[in-house]
Amino acid sequence: MTVKRVGVIGSGQLGRMMALAGSPLDVEFVFYDEALQSPSCRLGETIQPSSEGSLERFIESVDVITYESENTDSDLVVKLSESKPVFPGVDSLRKSQHRLTEKNTFRDLGIQTADFLKVTSHAELKLATEKLGFPIVLKTTTLGYDGKGQAVLKCADDIDNAWDKLKDFELIAEAFVTFSRELSVIAVRDTKGNTCVYPLAENDHTDGILRISRVPVKNLSKEKQAQAEDFAITMLNHLDHIGVLTLELFDTDNGLIANEMAPRVHNSGHWTIEGTASSQFENHVRAICGFPLGDTSSRENFAAMINIIGKHGDRDKVLSMGNAFLHTYSKTERQNRKIGHINLIASTEEQMNNDISALSDFVKECG
Ligand code: AMP
Repeated sequence: MTVKRVGVIGSGQLGRMMALAGSPLDVEFVFYDEALQSPSCRLGETIQPSSEGSLERFIESVDVITYESENTDSDLVVKLSESKPVFPGVDSLRKSQHRLTEKNTFRDLGIQTADFLKVTSHAELKLATEKLGFPIVLKTTTLGYDGKGQAVLKCADDIDNAWDKLKDFELIAEAFVTFSRELSVIAVRDTKGNTCVYPLAENDHTDGILRISRVPVKNLSKEKQAQAEDFAITMLNHLDHIGVLTLELFDTDNGLIANEMAPRVHNSGHWTIEGTASSQFENHVRAICGFPLGDTSSRENFAAMINIIGKHGDRDKVLSMGNAFLHTYSKTERQNRKIGHINLIASTEEQMNNDISALSDFVKECG
């Protein structure tokens, strides 16, 4: 196998886990990022965009380029694409960057979403509440993550406050979806158009931040499983997407509703590192390097991922558990910052529940 050199725009934990997965396949990594103390920096050279000739050096030093975030500059991706393949392509990136474009794309493909309206003025916000009915979720069309840049309006009294908070941004108003739980589906497509889908995960958030993902999703009907896989594969093919793609879904009585997509490996798929034969990171690397895709099925009956948020917590406790796997990102402690995660695998649900209880400090947030 020839050595491939992958360039990553960004150098956070996702790039770090890509590099950790790519090393055994003889794939080397170069990161394009200003920060030199970031999670990826010990796993390959980092080229700082501000340094002289940086773009040319980055292009010359890699065979293929990918990115870690949907907030990546799409003009940079277009420019890089003139010299080296960039996967996923700019269409995947642009459609994920803008909630209106994203939701219109879902709709055009027959993928259900919440009803939504563009909002550019106080009058349009008022009209949106009348058309969609309370409650509504008002969101910035770009750059929102982990629940940031959002407001829930429960009644007409909330309109002014929400408008004052968000009026400087382009906005989308969404009907409030009554869902029983949040799910995600992660899928991957290679350069030949082959696709694989991971088992769905159930995701619990607190304060807008993912705390725990669990697999398999309990009592998931065959229809919903098929619906999620169909959504993911339809979107992969539509975008001519190469690499990993994630869809976040609401589980409702009327089927699955797509909330958003990410053109990348996803926090709710970190469990795949020990939970499957080929993790989302390995399969992303395989896909963009033109290698065959690996097996996405679960290795054990139960798997979970607990985010380590804010503080590192009792590392020795995790390390002393037989089927817990600690992944830290070389990040400093800071409130609400994702600084690592713990993967768990178990053959029985009882064992999984016991292990999650033993790590309840992490689920709550280490104090
Ligand atoms: P997002 O930034 O779109 O992922 O939204 C963050 C969180 O807000 C989601 O994980 C949901 O819990 C909640 N949320 C977002 N949109 C809606 C909606 N239309 N209806 C109900 N809850 C929502």
